[in-house]
Amino acid sequence: MAVTDHVDLNGFMEGVKKRNPHQPEFVQAVQEVAEDIFEFIEDKEEYHSAQILRRIAEPDRVVSFRVCWEDDNGNIRVQRGWRVQNNNAIGPYKGGIRFHPSVTESVLKFLAFEQTFKNALTGLPMGGGKGGSNFNPKGKSVREIMRFCQSFMTELYRHIGADVDVPAGDIGVGGREIGYMFGQYKRITNHFTGVLTGKGLEWGGSLIRTEATGYGAVYFLENMLATKGDTLEGKTAVISGSGNVATHAAEKIVQLGGKVLTLSDSGGFIHDPDGIDQEKIDWVKTHKTHRRGRIEEYVDAFPGATFHAGKTPWGVPCDVALPCATQNELLGEDAKTLVANGCRAVSEGANMPTDLDGVHTFKHHKILYAPGKASNAGGVAVSGLEMSQNSARRSWSEEELQQMLKDIMAGIHQRCLTYGDQGGGYIDYVKGANIAGFKKVADAMLAFGVV
Ligand code: GLU
Repeated sequence: MAVTDHVDLNGFMEGVKKRNPHQPEFVQAVQEVAEDIFEFIEDKEEYHSAQILRRIAEPDRVVSFRVCWEDDNGNIRVQRGWRVQNNNAIGPYKGGIRFHPSVTESVLKFLAFEQTFKNALTGLPMGGGKGGSNFNPKGKSVREIMRFCQSFMTELYRHIGADVDVPAGDIGVGGREIGYMFGQYKRITNHFTGVLTGKGLEWGGSLIRTEATGYGAVYFLENMLATKGDTLEGKTAVISGSGNVATHAAEKIVQLGGKVLTLSDSGGFIHDPDGIDQEKIDWVKTHKTHRRGRIEEYVDAFPGATFHAGKTPWGVPCDVALPCATQNELLGEDAKTLVANGCRAVSEGANMPTDLDGVHTFKHHKILYAPGKASNAGGVAVSGLEMSQNSARRSWSEEELQQMLKDIMAGIHQRCLTYGDQGGGYIDYVKGANIAGFKKVADAMLAFGVV
């Protein structure tokens, strides 16, 4: 029998690095998963010999394309667009579209890889994908945004479909952009299908989808605190970001009796010792989504708050922290500062906001730490519910969806416990999430044979 020698974790990672040169984010995401999976499959010959992790870490396909558009001054602009279809073992590819100047193939491959595990954790039948462009929406007019979205969809439409690949929003892509892309899809194909999620309520969208990622991250936090007999009542929270995820996480923290101290954007963070209450959150939402302003301006609207240019908020003492901005925004040193200041729980609203050093620090100190693939899965989960509603051509009520979101987050927490409970009261949520997500996808892949 021809059997290849099993490589160890280091050998495996060497191969990943060699095959993906200049893709540090992708390598980082694979490393974080591989650390746990190698331990898990040590005595499981079927996963080894079928090379399951090696296959999940090789996207099914990466589509790269030119996106050409005309700006308001009549200049022709050229951007690069991508769709990474990572794995569809348990359902159609599913994952957001990101428009940001930092977008590269590496970033989208890491996001599509993470999404594969995240989507499996939700318990819903969704594979993993991600797309986007290095287009910078900042400072663009509404008409420029529309033209870009239409041009992007003019290529993307041939790669997606309600049973093939269902994109949604992410950084730089909200309801407005989904509208322009859905409009263009419909115009090209003449099909009104659930090909995108995060749609408007009048045209196939779902209630709660906008709130779901932020709310879900807080529900997950509640679940983690409950394992210690604790709640969010009276807790101070430090949150980064000021977009959809951050503002809805803040809203849910306030509803559950906590006090939110910070929000941020790429310019720096604001610290409001009086607490960012619902009225202030509403101001931030309007400021960011309609006025498209900077978080810095918060201190003019609410004196008593301070702005810290060019800084992240992790030095502000808190009980709980929610990184809700972007990848690698919380580094090893920040993790040490948070722990030293008494932070007892971290729930990630963003994807891979904590670098590997930070992850190892949280694990070492055994604090309650949820990786984004578990804690921010509420967004894509409600996207999954939007797909179900589209297929059934019906809409569920807000109460039904709220309950489903809560149940799904509790289910993810439970799956993390199954594989992450280390005894002695310590739950390794990173390990739990990685193994539970892996196992579901892996078992499906085994059923399909070598494909
Ligand atoms: N972009 C979100 C995420 O990172 C949502 C994806 C979706 O709804 O498909 O999970």
